[in-house]
Amino acid sequence: MSALAQRPLQQPSSQRLTSWHLLANNRLATMGLALLVLTVVLVLLVPVLPLPDPDATAPAQRLKPILTAGHLLGTDQLGRDILSRLLWGTRVSMVVGMTATLIAAFVGSTIGIVAGYAGGRTDNTMMRGIDMLMAFPYILLALAIVAALGPGLMNALYAIAVVNIPFFARNVRGVTRGQVHREFIDAARLSGKGHLSVILTEVLPNILPVIVITMSTTAGWMILETAGLSFLGLGAQPPQADLGSMLGEGRAQLFTAPHVSIVPGVMIFLIVISLNVLGDGIRDVLDPRLRSGALARPGPVTDVASDRVAPSKSQEDAVLAIEELETGFQRGRKIVPAVRGVSLSLRPGECLGLVGESGSGKSVTALSIMGLVASPPGVIRNGAIYLDKEDVLAMPETRVIASRGSRVAYIFQDPLTTLHPMYAVGRQVEEAIAAHHTVRPSKRRAMAIALMEKVGIPDASERAKHYPHQLSGGQRQRIGIAMALANDPDIIIADEPTTALDVTVQARILELLRKLQRERGMALLFITHDFGVVSEICDRVAVMKDGEILESGKTSDVLANPKHAYTKRLIACVPELGTGKQFLDRVAKLFPGHKEEAL
Ligand code: ADP
Ligand code: MG
Repeated sequence: MSALAQRPLQQPSSQRLTSWHLLANNRLATMGLALLVLTVVLVLLVPVLPLPDPDATAPAQRLKPILTAGHLLGTDQLGRDILSRLLWGTRVSMVVGMTATLIAAFVGSTIGIVAGYAGGRTDNTMMRGIDMLMAFPYILLALAIVAALGPGLMNALYAIAVVNIPFFARNVRGVTRGQVHREFIDAARLSGKGHLSVILTEVLPNILPVIVITMSTTAGWMILETAGLSFLGLGAQPPQADLGSMLGEGRAQLFTAPHVSIVPGVMIFLIVISLNVLGDGIRDVLDPRLRSGALARPGPVTDVASDRVAPSKSQEDAVLAIEELETGFQRGRKIVPAVRGVSLSLRPGECLGLVGESGSGKSVTALSIMGLVASPPGVIRNGAIYLDKEDVLAMPETRVIASRGSRVAYIFQDPLTTLHPMYAVGRQVEEAIAAHHTVRPSKRRAMAIALMEKVGIPDASERAKHYPHQLSGGQRQRIGIAMALANDPDIIIADEPTTALDVTVQARILELLRKLQRERGMALLFITHDFGVVSEICDRVAVMKDGEILESGKTSDVLANPKHAYTKRLIACVPELGTGKQFLDRVAKLFPGHKEEAL
């Protein structure tokens, strides 16, 4: 249970955490940033600090230990002041490392974007060139480049930039490939934008986080490589100091005067570690899924507030009873309620319809039942959910997870997003069985095929080998239903299972659900925005708006005598065949604020 859950409930607000706040929440990243800023400031101030000349030798002052008067960090084998050399050397190493990062990021990302955007032959040619660079062991390539160009800092910089180009190019190309076939890119093209404009205004903003993340993670690595080349004598040339050459020169005195090499070593360590923790922090800040609050990925079960008030079960015979449920989302430091005081009960073998417009909190209610609301940001503030006699919100995590699919199963709106695109559908049904039963693979396969036949998929044994994209929308939803049935649950929660389907397929799926529910005596919580569907299959109905239940009762009673104006409107929105213009007039009358064309 997180500390978030204990914060008081507050009114909705549009306040969002800025990137800066999010970064500041991450203690490690803040420490990295502070250390880095300190180093950068020191390094920028080096020319004006009262430091001795870093290259002035003084043989009489050789190898003085740390804290010698006048030499805070001692002197090296030529009597030069280590503090002065360290600061000047850090300046050189950071400038070289950062410049190499910028060059590699710019060139690599440009290659990546162009290759990914163009595709086809251009992509192939460019990527094979990059592959050739990658085919050489990476430090050997840097050594070879410096050997060819001659030792020196500038040449080391070029070498490091070149060997790092492939990392950027590969990463950016991959992400760009994923973006170019998205609908918003097509829309931009259709609007008449040129290639350059599409790349700059549509593609680049989407891949910028990837570039920044790659930069932040490679910068530390580049500083290490610069130091490595200098350590081997191929980077900074004497008497110029950089961290690597200081380390290399101190090596000979490692036992007699260890501080000469330990001081630059510690500096390299500090810079690289602070760059890396900062890089991790930046990656988390740029991930929109972590935007809403705490820097953590959603846990396996929704957080429950520790001061939750849990009412007792009001309907004794119910298999599922939701009592006074209150679920909210963390936004900034506040918790914005999405569902308030919702109570529902479901008796064995009964079908309860939950109706309401989009955004009324139906899905949040349904997901709260098995702790499936992602948290953070989701938090269950109050209420209880009784599965038979047990309160789900008080169950240990493992028991909640074990109950998913076996006692309560879900069917979601769009099976194309819930089915795995890379596995054959038969295997996915088998997986649903295997989650709760250990059976021999051959028996499991037979069970899966039997289930597929049960939900009306013709030629099931052949169809089981097909992938989700090879099935029609209706067939995919049938697979979704088969997976929900796999472990004979007591309760099925269907969240708008037919919204993505056309009307005839919808009718068949509804018929199937109703038939299966009767046969197996399961309880069905059916979520929809369509009163027409409710009247066909539900025994009772609850109407939801803005996170609250407005009214509930037997379907026939609510249909015949709706108490709430909102319910009347929902009922009026069900079109009848042959009424045509009258239907629009009727709906327009109920929504006086709306013009006819807006409907
Ligand atoms: P629907 O009735 O259409 O299923 P939902 O239950 O999905 O509506 O959403 C109810 C409310 O909860 C909406 O206002 C929505 O913005 C909010 N909400 C849902 N999921 C999240 C989330 N992950 N983060 C923040 N708010 C959310
Ligand atoms: Mg929904």
